[in-house]
Amino acid sequence: MSQQGYVATPPYSQAQPGMGGYPPGFGSTPAQPLYGHYGGQPQSFPTPATGMMKPAPHSGMPPPPVSSPYISNGQQNDAPQRYPAPPSATAGSYGQPSQSPYHSTSPQAQPPAQQLTNQMGAMNLGYGPGPTQNSQAPPTSHPSHQPFQSAPPSSMGHSSLGSPPTGLQSHQTASPQSPTAGNPMGGPPSMGGMGRPFPGSPPPGVGGVQQFGPGAVRPPGYPQQPQGQYGGQMAGPGMGGGAAQMAGPPQKKLDPDSIPSTTQVIEDDKAKRGGQVYTTNIRGQVPPLVTTDFTVQDQGNASPRYMRCTTYSFPCTADLAKQCQVPLATIIKPFAKVPKNETPLYMVNHGETGPIRCNRCKAYMCPYMQFIDGGRRFQCGFCSCVNEVPAFYFQHLDHMGRRVDFYERPELSLGSYEFVATLDYCKNNKPASAPAYIFMIDVSYANIKSGVVRLICEELKSLLDNLPREDMAESSSVKVGFVTYNKILHFYNVNSALAQPQMMVVSDTAEMFVPLLDGFLVNFQESRSVIDNLLEQIPDMFADTNESETVFAPVIQAGVEALKAAECSGKLFIFHSSIPTAEAPGKLKNRDDKKLINTEKGKTLFQPQKGVYEQLSKDCVSQGCSVDLFVFPSQYMDLATLGDVSTHTGGSVYKYSNFQMETDGAHFLSDLRKDVRKSIGFDAIMRVRTSTGFRATDFFGAIHMNNTTDVEMAAVDCDKAVTVEFKHDDTLSEETGALMQCALLYTSVSGQRRLRIHNLSLNCSSQLSELYKSCETDALINFFAKSAYRAILNQPLMAVRDILVNQTAHMLACYRKNCASPSAASQLILPDAMKVFPVYINSLMKTAPLVSSTELSTDDRVHQRLITMAMGVEESQLLLYPRLIPLHNMDYSSDVVPAPLRCSEERLTDAGMFLLENGHFLFLWLGQACPPELVQNIFNVPSLAHMPSNLSSLPVLDNPQSKKLRSIIDSVVAQSPSSMKLQMVRQKERSEMLFRQHLVEDVGLHGGASYMDFLCYVHREIRKLLT
Ligand SMILES: [Zn+2]
Repeated sequence: MSQQGYVATPPYSQAQPGMGGYPPGFGSTPAQPLYGHYGGQPQSFPTPATGMMKPAPHSGMPPPPVSSPYISNGQQNDAPQRYPAPPSATAGSYGQPSQSPYHSTSPQAQPPAQQLTNQMGAMNLGYGPGPTQNSQAPPTSHPSHQPFQSAPPSSMGHSSLGSPPTGLQSHQTASPQSPTAGNPMGGPPSMGGMGRPFPGSPPPGVGGVQQFGPGAVRPPGYPQQPQGQYGGQMAGPGMGGGAAQMAGPPQKKLDPDSIPSTTQVIEDDKAKRGGQVYTTNIRGQVPPLVTTDFTVQDQGNASPRYMRCTTYSFPCTADLAKQCQVPLATIIKPFAKVPKNETPLYMVNHGETGPIRCNRCKAYMCPYMQFIDGGRRFQCGFCSCVNEVPAFYFQHLDHMGRRVDFYERPELSLGSYEFVATLDYCKNNKPASAPAYIFMIDVSYANIKSGVVRLICEELKSLLDNLPREDMAESSSVKVGFVTYNKILHFYNVNSALAQPQMMVVSDTAEMFVPLLDGFLVNFQESRSVIDNLLEQIPDMFADTNESETVFAPVIQAGVEALKAAECSGKLFIFHSSIPTAEAPGKLKNRDDKKLINTEKGKTLFQPQKGVYEQLSKDCVSQGCSVDLFVFPSQYMDLATLGDVSTHTGGSVYKYSNFQMETDGAHFLSDLRKDVRKSIGFDAIMRVRTSTGFRATDFFGAIHMNNTTDVEMAAVDCDKAVTVEFKHDDTLSEETGALMQCALLYTSVSGQRRLRIHNLSLNCSSQLSELYKSCETDALINFFAKSAYRAILNQPLMAVRDILVNQTAHMLACYRKNCASPSAASQLILPDAMKVFPVYINSLMKTAPLVSSTELSTDDRVHQRLITMAMGVEESQLLLYPRLIPLHNMDYSSDVVPAPLRCSEERLTDAGMFLLENGHFLFLWLGQACPPELVQNIFNVPSLAHMPSNLSSLPVLDNPQSKKLRSIIDSVVAQSPSSMKLQMVRQKERSEMLFRQHLVEDVGLHGGASYMDFLCYVHREIRKLLT
C-alpha cells in the first residue's frame, strides 16, 4: 500500500479445492497472482489471455458497450483549496519519540533563520537523504515510486518559512477544462475574489494568530493532556522533549477556524445536495457524502449505499496510480439498508438455464452488455467476448441499438438487481434450506451472578417473534436451537410434541458431537410453549452454580456440527463471560502483556492464537455458519482469539466490560434486538469482476478467502462491508472507463438461493487532476483504516503510523506538483475533495489500536480493530470524526438537530451541554456552569451536583427541553448499527477523560498530535517531497 510496504497479507491459504462445495462455474477463472502493494517490485503484468478480444475502436468492432447509455461525467468538482503556510513546521520523525516532532517544537516567535536551523537540525536526526524512506522500505526500483524524493529540503523555502501567516487564501482555482495545464488562474493567488474563505475565518494577517496550544487555552481545572507525539511512547525517554516544550511560552498559531473543517464540508454538501434525487445514470459521477440525506434513483449504476469508491476516476496507467499513491478501492455493502422511498431490488428469473452470463469471464447480464447483430449477440463489457443470445432471451433493437425491452428488464437498465439462482448455484446441487439461529449461553458463575443469563432468557421469549423473514412472508422460516454451557455443554430438545424440554449433556468436549437431531432445531412458532418453558427454567437451573471455568471452541464446534447435521447455514449467538481456561480444545491462557507495547512483539497482542481457532473458522465458512459474539468480561479474555472466528464469518463482536444490569442491560438488549432482526444472507460467496486493464487484488472485511478471487462470507448482514482494492494490469481507456460487477451468491432467510448483482462504472483519465477531483475522503479513510488495522498484525505500530503519514504527504504532494497552479511553497494546497483528509488520518492514528499506550486495555484495542474491519463508509466516517452537537441553544420548537461543531475542547463552553456520538459511544457532556433551569428541565434535579451517578438514560419529563433532547438522542441511536449507552460526563470530573479521547482535533490523550500540528507536519513533509 505504500513505499514502506505494508506487508500484503496473503489470503489465508492457497486453494483448498472443493471447500464450500460450489460448482466450478461460480468464479471459475483461474487464480490470479496477488499483486503487491505500492512499492513492491515492479510487476510484469500478464498479457491478456490468448484470444481475448480487446475493444479496438478503429477495427470495425462495435463501439465499446458502455459508451452509449451513459454520459461522460461533465460535472466538475471544486478546485483546489489553498491554505496559508502553517507556521512552525519543525522537523522530526513520526514514530520516533526521541525526536518529539511536535512537542519539542520551539516557540513560534523565532526569526525565520532560527526556525530553519531548528528544522534542519532536527532533520539530520530524523532522516537520511530520502525523507520518506525508512529501514522497512523494500527497495523501490521503479522510478515512478520516488518522484519527490530527490533531496532534503534545500534553501528554497527560506524566505517563506518565516513569513507570517498570510491569512486565508483558500480558493477554488483551476479552470475545469485544464486543471493541469499550468496556472489557469493566471498568476499567484491574491486575496480578492478568489473564492470562499473558510467561514468564520479572520481577515488575513490580523486575526490569524492567536494564543493556542497546551496551557494557553485550557481552563485551569482541566487535566493536563499528555503531550501527543507520534510514536506515542508515552513512558519512553522521548517525553523529555515534550516536557521541555510544555514549560516554554505558549505557541502562537493560526486561528483553528482557518484550517479545513470537516463539519463545514459536511454542512456544505448537505446544503448543496441534501434532499435531492441522485440518479445513477452518469458514469464516474461522485455521489453526495454519506452524511448527506438524499434519495437514490437507480438508472444503471449501483446506489452509493451499495458501492462507494475512493475515486470515481481511475488513472489510465499503473504508473500514474503509483505516482499519486491514491488507493483505488471500492467499499461494497451488498445488503445495505435502503430508505423506504427507494425501490427495493427487483428479482430476475432467467429460468432453468440460470442467469445469462458471458461465456468467457462469467459476468452476469447487466447494462454494460452491448447487443449487436440485430440483437442476436451481445458483447461483454468486461472482457469484450461476443456471446450468442439464447433464443428465449432474444429481443429486437431500437434505432439506438437498444433492446426494445430495455426498461422492462432490470438487468438491462439498473445497476442493482437479483437473480433467482438455479440448482447449479447450490451446494452439491441440492436446494438450500432455511438457516437456523442457535443461542448458546454461558451459564458459568459470572454470567449467572451478573443477571445476564436471566436477561437473555427473558428477552428471547419475545424477541424470537422478530426473526428475519422475507418481505411478503407471514412468519420467519428461520429455525432456532438452544445450548447452555460452562465447561460442559447442555443441548435442549424443544420438539413441539414434548410437554417439557429435555436436556442432554455432553461432557467430553474434546470430540464435539450433537447428541440429538430431532427437536434441537425447531420452528419457534410451533415449539413456542416448550421454548418458553425452557427459557423460564434455565436461569433457575444454574442459579446456584459455582462453576467459573468455561470452554469456547467446543461451543462453536457444537454449533457447526448441528448446522451440518441439519444441512443448513445459520448463525450462532454466543453469550460469553471469560477467557476459556477449562481443559478442552481451544483452551487459552492470559497472554496480555503491556510490556510488549512498543516492542517488535507488540503485534502479537492483536494476533489470534492459531490452530484450533483457525480450523474452526474454515469449518464455519464451509458450513455457512456465522458467529456473533456477545462478551461480558471483567478482565482480559483474549478477544483477539475469541473474536477471530466471528471476523472471518461475517459475524459481529459486542463487548460489555464489567456488565452491570442497571447501566448496561438496556444497551445490551438493544444490540441483541438489532442483531436478531437484521436483514442478512447466508453461505455467501462474492466475486468482483472488472473490465480489462485492472482487477481486484485485495479484500478487507469479516471474510474468508480460499483463493485470490472468491470472497467467502458465512453470512453478510446489512451493516457489513467489504473493502476491495484494485490494481492495474494494463492501460485503461478513457473511452470505455472502468467497469465493475459485484456478484454475491447467497441463501436468503427463507432458504432460497439468489444472486445479488451490483454494477458500477467509473471514469478513467490520464490526468491526475481528474482523479483528485473525483476522490471521496470518507471512502479513502475507510480503506486506510482497514489496511492499517490489518497491517498492525504484522508490523510495529510505529511503522504503520509512519506509512500513513508518508502516504498522506505523498498523495498531497503529488497533487501539488501535478495539479495545482504554481504558488509559494509556503502555501499548503489541498485538493478540494481531500481537504479534510488530514484530520481523518490524524484521527485514525489516534485510535486505540494504533496508539502505543499502556493505559488502554488490550481487549478494547482488539475490539475496535475487529469491528472496524467490517465497517462501511458511514460508520468509519462517524467513528473517526464524531458528531459534537451543542444542545444548550436549541430552538426547542423545531425538529431540527443543531449542526455539529468541530471536535475540539475549544468548542465547549462552561455553560453548555453537548452530545458527542461516534456510532459506538454516546456522551452527554455537561458544563459546570450549565444553567440550573436547563438542568432542572432535563434531569429533574436542582443542580448537576444532585445528579445521581450512573445515570444511563434521561428521565421522561414533560417540557420542551426534555422532549427535544430525548428525541435527538433517540434518533441518533436509531441511526446507528450498534446501540449506544448514554454516558453522562460532567466537566472536570474523571469520567471526562473518556469523552475527551473523542475530541479528535485535539492532542490525543494517549499520544498523537492535534489536527493543527499534524497539518503543519504534513505540510512540511509535502515541501520536502517537492524539493
Ligand atoms: Zn465477459
